[in-house]
Amino acid sequence: MAVRKSQSKRSGKPTQFTTLRVRLYPTPEQAELFEKTFGCCRYIWNRMLADQQRFYNETGAFFIPTPAKYKTGAPFLKEVDNQALIQEHNKLSQAFRVFFKDPEHFGHPNFKRKKTDRDSFTACNHVFESGPTIYTTRDGIRMTKAGIVKAKFSRRPQAWWKLKRVTVDKTRTGRYYCCILYEYAEKEPVPVIPMEDTTVGLKYSMRHFYVDSDGTMADPSQWKKQSQERLAKIQRSLNRMQPGSKNYQEAVQKFYRLHEHIANQRRDYIHKESRRIANAWDAVCVRADEMNELNKITSLGNVCDSGYGMFRECLRYKLARQGKQLLIVDRRFPSTRTCSACGRVMPEEISTRRRTWACPHCGAVLKREANAAQNIKTQGLAQYFEMQERRESA
Ligand SMILES: [Zn+2]
Repeated sequence: MAVRKSQSKRSGKPTQFTTLRVRLYPTPEQAELFEKTFGCCRYIWNRMLADQQRFYNETGAFFIPTPAKYKTGAPFLKEVDNQALIQEHNKLSQAFRVFFKDPEHFGHPNFKRKKTDRDSFTACNHVFESGPTIYTTRDGIRMTKAGIVKAKFSRRPQAWWKLKRVTVDKTRTGRYYCCILYEYAEKEPVPVIPMEDTTVGLKYSMRHFYVDSDGTMADPSQWKKQSQERLAKIQRSLNRMQPGSKNYQEAVQKFYRLHEHIANQRRDYIHKESRRIANAWDAVCVRADEMNELNKITSLGNVCDSGYGMFRECLRYKLARQGKQLLIVDRRFPSTRTCSACGRVMPEEISTRRRTWACPHCGAVLKREANAAQNIKTQGLAQYFEMQERRESA
């Protein structure tokens, strides 16, 4: 299934397109009609193209005659769905449009041959007062001329999807398929109001990727550590080799492959982890750490490499799709040196070497990272409610 996004011109609401590909089981009569339609589409395409070229050679002007012009000379065209013929006209016009725009990339439209070109036709759905011309039934698709063709759906279309058009094609192995294009308005998610116990705070952690306000640590570390060690090993051996030698070339290839492998693992992890968090919580609070600054202070590993920026971005849109929010706290907020138990702010930064510290005012013993995550959460929620209040009073 493919999803395309676009802005609807009429309502201004974002619309999406999606396609379902279904296998068709036509009766022998319906199959014969399909074959005729394929043939007529090829015929009309070639006639229109030939006349366009002749017209261009004679007058120097661009013009494609409409399919209706050919019907008297070729009455068999009346046997098939007229919509399919009109679509050939649209496709040919479109082929010329892209050709004129970018001739090198698209090439001049060619004549179609039965042997080399794929058998297919397209028909648009028209909704009349009496109903649509194309629609799906429980186990079939109703088309103009063919009637209901038996079909096997792997997925059902949703009730609010609008059927735009269908494309029927035949594979080299003689199977018929139908691609159904649907359009639908994107639904606005209902805003979710975060609560104390449905909100989580995340603190970026060099060692654990992140630590949350409950003290839970993310741990992508196992594969990450292993891969990184292997990477370092190849890098060391590269330093010893003669650049340009065969061994060197092989090691470079190995290095690239491993790099790619690590990047894939990281992307996988980030998508899964952000999905899990976005589903489990109503709001997520993070600090707007500057990635450049984090880079400067790190000696243990590269922050950009750890993918925390990508992780935050994934969180943001995965939450937004559910009407939830990523609450971002100012990067100057002293998350680490604030005591989450009594709220007092210490005058000095807590060393990153210390895993725990005790508040001199209330005596609470705090885990450095979990305490910071808790403060980020408290601050994020406070910011959220402050903003809501301001909005209501305005
Ligand atoms: Zn305290």
